[in-house]
Amino acid sequence: MRMNKHCPVCGQATEPETGFYFGTGYVSYALSIALSVATFVAWWVLIGFSLDDNRLFWWLGLNGVLLVLMQPLLMRISRTIWLAFFVYYDPEWPQLTAPQQ
Ligand SMILES: [Zn+2]
Repeated sequence: MRMNKHCPVCGQATEPETGFYFGTGYVSYALSIALSVATFVAWWVLIGFSLDDNRLFWWLGLNGVLLVLMQPLLMRISRTIWLAFFVYYDPEWPQLTAPQQ
């Protein structure tokens, strides 16, 4: 959960306002759904689903374990994506802040 308060290169605040990262829940949710769809399709192709056995529940359980294990990674990616929604990369920022000649 610990992160820099400001970008070490340009000084941009990484938490522009209180509660800024509450919105990461939506990004994290979308990433979790995308990952679940990916594992579902992979399971479907590699193992398959059937109503006659427990393969569906094995996928559910393993997908749940995978999501829990990947939570730290998903949280960091979500924060990065959320911050990038609001703070744009500007390759010319030093020129913008330099005194005009
Ligand atoms: Zn920066």
